Amino acid sequence: MSRRHKLLRAVAVTDTTFARTTLDGRAVWVGKCIHCNSRLVLADDGRPLGEATLEHIFPQTQGGTDDVDNLAIACARCNREKGQRHDARKKGERLDHVVALLKARRAERWRDPPEPLELDDDDDDDDDDDDD
Ligand SMILES: [Zn+2]
Repeated sequence: MSRRHKLLRAVAVTDTTFARTTLDGRAVWVGKCIHCNSRLVLADDGRPLGEATLEHIFPQTQGGTDDVDNLAIACARCNREKGQRHDARKKGERLDHVVALLKARRAERWRDPPEPLELDDDDDDDDDDDDD
């Protein structure tokens, strides 16, 4: 499972709009885009089926982290549009407003995971902190 898929799955687990179900005989997560509430589907292992993408509420380009409460699932169209609206040149009040809105929405949807989330990098990425 790639880190991105792990993070997507972690969002689905902690987002009340996402439910585990079966689609064409396989286990999937079905839920809603953080922006437009369109229907999004992930495989059970977090792989997007269709246009689900990982959304950083506080953008990575502005120092946003991979903490699960900073992450959401958005459809590709919304994610792209947010990226264009909130690039580095336009940061400031408007970005703060959108971040606050999304944080509130994420908090409304939040549910505690039934078991601790496993997000450690054990395989594919190397952002270990032991070399500084
Ligand atoms: Zn959307």
